Amino acid sequence: MTTDASTAVHEGGCVCGATRYRVEGEPLRVTICHCLWCQRRTGSGFAVEAVFANKQVAFSGATRSRYRHVSDESGRWLEIEFCPTCATALGFTLEAAPGIRAVEAGTFDDPGWISAKRFAFRHVFTRSHRDWSEIPAGAETYETHFRR
Ligand SMILES: [Zn+2]
Ligand SMILES: [Zn+2]
Repeated sequence: MTTDASTAVHEGGCVCGATRYRVEGEPLRVTICHCLWCQRRTGSGFAVEAVFANKQVAFSGATRSRYRHVSDESGRWLEIEFCPTCATALGFTLEAAPGIRAVEAGTFDDPGWISAKRFAFRHVFTRSHRDWSEIPAGAETYETHFRR
């Protein structure tokens, strides 16, 4: 038996432990989103989103609560998912990108796994980047989103 990056399993979950998940393999990409919506929904300066194909991610435990938001800018929906008990943000799906989901990188049991040394990070919506943290020199940056 060998374990390589494509079959390695990483687990995570919310702060109260009611909602758990496991992912198989590596993220398709990691996006650090500085948009105002992510700032508000996380209460922070940005969101760190590890993006996986839906089939790589399996949830267990409590049924996640969902909230569907329609973007003022694109008119398309984004659906955030969170623990019904402790409200930890667990990730979201997007109308614009079917078949994939973002997992909030800070919810992995081993938070060091999603490392900038290991994966290429893309910084998006840098037009609303706050000055609370630096974007590293040489990082891949987009004023809005690379999907536009
Ligand atoms: Zn919870
Ligand atoms: Zn965002």
